[in-house]
Parts: sequence; C-alpha cells; structure tokens
Amino acid sequence: MPLIAQTQDYSKALFEKHDVFKETALKHRRFKHKDLVPLIEKLPFEKQVVGQSFEGRDLYQIKLGSGPVKVLLWSQMHGDEPTATMALADIFLFFQGKNDGFDNLRQSILANTTLYFVPMLNPDGAERYQRRTATEIDMNRDALRFQTPEGALLKKLQDELKPEFSFNLHDKNTRYSAGRSNKQATVSFLATAYDYERSWNPTRTRAMQVISGMIEALEQFIPGHLGRWNDEHEPRAFGDNVSKWGSSLILIESGGYKDDTEKQFIRKLNFVAILTGLQAIAEKSYTHYTLSTYEALPNNERYLYDLLVRNAGFNYNGKIVIKDIGIDLIEKNTKNATGFSIRSVIEELGDLSTFWGIKEIDATGLQVKPLADFPELIKTYKLSKQDVQDKDLNLDEKANFVLAKGNDVKYVIINGQIK
Ligand SMILES: [Zn+2]
Repeated sequence: MPLIAQTQDYSKALFEKHDVFKETALKHRRFKHKDLVPLIEKLPFEKQVVGQSFEGRDLYQIKLGSGPVKVLLWSQMHGDEPTATMALADIFLFFQGKNDGFDNLRQSILANTTLYFVPMLNPDGAERYQRRTATEIDMNRDALRFQTPEGALLKKLQDELKPEFSFNLHDKNTRYSAGRSNKQATVSFLATAYDYERSWNPTRTRAMQVISGMIEALEQFIPGHLGRWNDEHEPRAFGDNVSKWGSSLILIESGGYKDDTEKQFIRKLNFVAILTGLQAIAEKSYTHYTLSTYEALPNNERYLYDLLVRNAGFNYNGKIVIKDIGIDLIEKNTKNATGFSIRSVIEELGDLSTFWGIKEIDATGLQVKPLADFPELIKTYKLSKQDVQDKDLNLDEKANFVLAKGNDVKYVIINGQIK
C-alpha cells in the first residue's frame, strides 16, 4: 500500500463532526464494565477476550486494520479515569462510518496500521470508581512485579504484539494548570522517559513527534490549555517500561475544562487527538517534527483552586484582616459509585495572589460572615445545622459563608459553590 504523499488535515472536521460518532450509551464518567461490554460485543470488528480482571471481568481486545505498523492502545488502567474509554467507543463508531468525507482517512489508517485496542483495563476499579484495582494496587506501579492480572496482561500483549507505538490513556486531577497560568491543563502529553537521565533515543523521539502533531491539532480548539506531563522516570510505571521495551509510548492525560464536569468536551478532544495521532503514524507525517513543539509545552503545575475568593475581609473584633480563600471541590462517590456528591474544602487562607481560581470572586470591600447571621438564607437553601457554621472560616472545613457589605449580601457560598 503506497503512503499518501500529501497529508490532509482532518482535525477541524473531526472536531466539528464528533457528535455524529458519539457513542450515546456513554453519557457520563461513572459507566461500568457491564455498560461497555454490549458496545464491544456489537462491533463488526475482530474482537476477543484476552484476559480477566482479578474479579473475573472480561478484558477485550479489538483489532482493526491490516497494515504493517502495529499500535496498541489501552485506557482506564486507573478505574476512575474513563475519558479516553468514551473516546475509544466513539472511534469504534467512526471506523464504521462511510461516505462522509472521512473515507480516505479511514483507508489510510486501516491500510497502514494494525490497531489493537484494550478499553477499560481496570474494570474492577471502574466498578468502584477508584484508581486502584480490586486488590488495592496501583496498576501503574506494577510494571515490574506484575501482581495484578490486568498489568500482567498488558505486559503479555506488549511481548506478543511488539507494537511500534503504544497509547497509554489516563485522566488527571482537574486542578492542574498549564504552566504558571490561570488555564487548566485540559490535555497533557508525554513521551515517557525510559531512564532517569530522560534520554532521547529513536523510540522516544518518535513518540514526541507524533505528540507534536496532536499538539498542533488541539491547540486550535484549546489555546493555552495544553500541558506536558512530568517526565521524571518511574521504573515501576507501565509507560516508562513500555518505552524501555521498545514501543514509542504516547501518554495522554485528560484534565479539566471549565464547566465540563462529565468531561464530554475533553472526550471530543481525545477523539480528535487519537485519530490525528493514528493518521500521523499511518502516513509517517510525524517524521518532520523536531523537539521544539513538544518542548514549548508548559509543564503541569498546581496553581489552581476550584474557587478563589480574593481580598475578603475577616473581622477579628473590629480589626479587619484581608485574606484570599482557596476552595476545592472534592467528589465523593455515592453508593455503588454510580454518581457523586461534592464536598467542598477550604484548602488555603491568606495571600493567594500568585494563584488562580477556575472560578473567582473579587471580594474587595466585602466581609466574610457566617451563614448563621442570615436566617432567611438558611431557610431559602434548606441548610442543616451542620452546614451553618457559627464561627469563623477555618482550614479543612466546608466552605459555607456569605460575602457582604454591611448587611447587604453580595455572594452566598454554599459547599464551595456560588449561589
Ligand atoms: Zn492514571
């Protein structure tokens, strides 16, 4: 099969048409193995059960294409990191489409690569919506000892298939910023280091080059929101070892984007990035990239709170002290981990002028007051006694308070959220 000489840029079209390929059975992040299996079972592709999780859930491999370059893609080795699994389900639908302007892209990828997908590598963790496996092991620290059946399977697939490229698909904390900035690092990439010196060999360089194409593709949709994941070598992690074993390892970490709680926008970005990367591999168009695009990516940093209240006045017996309030919103799984509630926490108080909030309030001229001072608010928001703190705001406590000018209420903050 001849390579296509001129590579066509499909990124914009993929972004715009993503809805057409969206697997509508997956609507939110806490879907389970039982939700995914019927979607895999109905695929008109070569698929097989290649192993079982510790608790006996089937692990599937879906094979597509017949080209010489082998690519292995797995998602959700951490059970609470499902964004890419949703994107893979969309990609399976994409490869079933035709006569829609994407036929050349499909043909190019399928003729030049053979793709092996293993979605939801940690279904026991997904069942509980937790990072670790059923045996409480972080699979991504099990690439030396192989005590998790799921990790052992991944090693076996690497050994048997010997893929030239691997995609290791994760989610990360939504509060990572792209460098020292107020922008969330919505998608981060890494060409994983295979040694402590973070050396560059042709295997790692190829991963960096494919990533460079994906950076260019996503930058048009989320300028300033792309980051580079920490490249410190972790000898127990899969990415680092896969890279050491000779496969060009592309790590994608899905972070946060304002108001995209269920990560449906980031799912779309994954869809575009992965297909763009596969095209670059298929057409070998990645080869023209140097390190510059990759190295220009800002590192992931921690400069964000979910809500930052700036310059709030705290009254200490008539003495006003100005403090900023850094508040985070922590998800707590509901029973059976099918939903979640939010528990706010006051992470920091004081000068946070070098930080940012995903949401911010400028409280200049306003004073922090307890909800207990405003009985009508307690009634309006049906607050429990527990919610109503009758004392000052404290670290590590729930964020329930009022920002007022005198008795004039300007903001009501209940459980870290602006009412
Ligand atoms: Zn992860």
